[in-house]
Amino acid sequence: MSNIFTITTRDSHSRARTGVVQTAHGLIQTPVFMPVGTRATVKSLSPAELYDHGAQIILGNTYHLYLQPGHELVARRGGLHRFMAWNGPILTDSGGFQVFSLVYGGIADEIKGRRPAHPHAQPGMVKVTEDGVLFRSYLDGSQHMFTPERSIEIQHGLGADIILCFDELPPFRAGYEYTARSLERTHRWESRCLTYHQNHTPPVASSDIHAVPRQSLFGIVHGGVFADLRRASAEYIGTLPFDGLSIGGSLGADKAQMYEVVDMTVPHLPDGLPRHLLGVGDVDDLLEGVARGIDMFDCVSPTRLGRHGTALVRDATRKWRLNLTNAAWREDDGPLQAGCPCMTCRTFSRAYLHYLFRAKELLGIRLVSLHNVAFLLNLMQEIRTGINEGHFADVYRAWLGRNAPVP
Ligand SMILES: [Zn+2]
Repeated sequence: MSNIFTITTRDSHSRARTGVVQTAHGLIQTPVFMPVGTRATVKSLSPAELYDHGAQIILGNTYHLYLQPGHELVARRGGLHRFMAWNGPILTDSGGFQVFSLVYGGIADEIKGRRPAHPHAQPGMVKVTEDGVLFRSYLDGSQHMFTPERSIEIQHGLGADIILCFDELPPFRAGYEYTARSLERTHRWESRCLTYHQNHTPPVASSDIHAVPRQSLFGIVHGGVFADLRRASAEYIGTLPFDGLSIGGSLGADKAQMYEVVDMTVPHLPDGLPRHLLGVGDVDDLLEGVARGIDMFDCVSPTRLGRHGTALVRDATRKWRLNLTNAAWREDDGPLQAGCPCMTCRTFSRAYLHYLFRAKELLGIRLVSLHNVAFLLNLMQEIRTGINEGHFADVYRAWLGRNAPVP
């Protein structure tokens, strides 16, 4: 195992910590929020805009990029960095989450008994065996097979700095027995990912004094909402030579249960590895996650909200949402968020943004997406400064109005 992570400062009142992750495309200051560029683009934003507003690393989705344009085409273009002209660090997921969530339609849909959102998605679209997963493309219904080896091969072709193990995402309502069996299989899959990665990764050049691996592999801890399974998974995955660990699988039905899952997992993870909580990015989740010892987060929410005219704002209601289509902003000359240093807030008024959404002009989507991404990146900067200067508890209290959880 290479040591790509250095812890800088620990908070004395919680599990929060700052650190630095080394990658072949530069350093990442943690805790970090990673904007998601599912299809090799953080929707509507250019790499320069992301960089200028503080993005350190972005995420791409293996499932989507494999289906279109294909990892081999990307590899022939010199890899994802050159293809999308983003020269900073990139993380790709394994494709497992999308293969399964397309069928289940996400936890919210499953809880509410709704049909999966995608027209091609339906139960029976995936078949899980010991070898891997047979699934149909959401684009044209064509049949494909992902195995642990295939997922790593595809991620090698894409060339991200951090890649993830292939795992099974059990249905949210899976009981203990199914979750336990699935966990065993996911552990076997992760070992296979590691073996394939070790046998197929180009060695680090001897001239590289930092000896940063070209691609770091993260393991994924599973176990659903069951404390003994989470602990067993954390302890087992923690013994394998991964460069970092993601927390995946079902995180529960609501935020309170998600924090419980994090609390039952983190104490059993190796202290010296970066910890990534998959797919989480609400304001309160970032603060609660950091307080519980999480170093890395990713979520599509800032750009998804932006597309629907919802801006992230710092407000007294602690919902952090402002609906720009609301008539209240029709003649409001103020910025989206007073004091926000982003290009949108420095340049445009709420009245103009309201008008753009009412008129369905594309610029509105871009401007609010940019603000939302910058808003979360600035929050993470505030959190890092708070930890480094010994007042993370004040940052936590100022945002959430309550005291940080005691470890
Ligand atoms: Zn702004």
